[in-house]
Amino acid sequence: MNEKPLIRSLNHRLFVKAVREADLEKYSVDVLKKFLFKIGITNFDEVTTFSKNAREWLNSHFDAGLPKVLERLRSKDETIKLLLDCNGAKSESVLMNSRGKRTACISVQSGCKLNCVFCATGKLGFFRNLSFGEILDQVLILRGDASIDRIVVMGMGEPMDNLDEVIPALHFLTSKDGYGYSRKRITLSTVGIVPGIERLADSGVGVELAISLHAVDDNVRSAIIPMNSKYNIEDVLKASKLYASKANSKVTIEYLLLQDINNSEDDAVKLGRISRKYLMPINLIVFNPTEGIEFEPADNLERFTKIVSDNAIAVTVRRSKGKEISAACGQLVMRGA
Ligand code: SF4
Repeated sequence: MNEKPLIRSLNHRLFVKAVREADLEKYSVDVLKKFLFKIGITNFDEVTTFSKNAREWLNSHFDAGLPKVLERLRSKDETIKLLLDCNGAKSESVLMNSRGKRTACISVQSGCKLNCVFCATGKLGFFRNLSFGEILDQVLILRGDASIDRIVVMGMGEPMDNLDEVIPALHFLTSKDGYGYSRKRITLSTVGIVPGIERLADSGVGVELAISLHAVDDNVRSAIIPMNSKYNIEDVLKASKLYASKANSKVTIEYLLLQDINNSEDDAVKLGRISRKYLMPINLIVFNPTEGIEFEPADNLERFTKIVSDNAIAVTVRRSKGKEISAACGQLVMRGA
């Protein structure tokens, strides 16, 4: 049995330290990232630009193996869901296909601490943060199935709760030495942790942001998103507006429609007005009934959408893919292995 630590599971600080301990120059950090997370090497001997000594040192101290794919499911609408074992922590990743464009939905934590009541992941509890490498490995593995046009950081976990790893992962995804994705092709979703939004704005990654608002009233929002009692609707929207101007990036408001919770006509008017006030488009999300979650999809989607669109700068409706394999929004629960 191989007892060496997996280099892909090191957090970013320890990864940089390992490269320096291999007696490599600082720029080699980016070289090694490219070999591991873009080319997908599983043995350091393949990093031919490193000295023999450095390769031997890395091979003797670390394992470069990929996460294990415990399960791979494919739905009728060609959504693929992977269950990965990242050094003992399970996580899920999804590849969706919409009119020939492929979107990868990746996770940043195994489980989640935030316990939003409509979310199956939140019911699992929290296992651990994924390392930046474990976040990138999901893209690497999903690219084995198809080229990826867009990445959404909307899988398991709250990105603002793991920014030490999420920011280096985003830098690699957008840098020309990494995957080179335009920052407009990456969207990070958050319930809105204000210091995290500010830190992400300062980081320079400039990806698009999706704010999971899901209510227009603080009492309702606190009941479904406990984090709202710390950062309320106004705090989150103000921080998001600052993010949009600082990062020169689009911010969208996400609104999951739940029957008798947040789907009144008054809610629709208020939501539209928020969109106009903060200049953020609205993305209405149809709820996917999920075992163990006691909510119902709203029965007035059409009327609600019409009222929002009469008041908002723009509105779209998202119907999730991959429902029969539990790959849709809020359904990721690491079941099956
Ligand atoms: S919605 Fe996001 S932040 Fe809330 S419990 Fe689910 S994974 Fe965590």
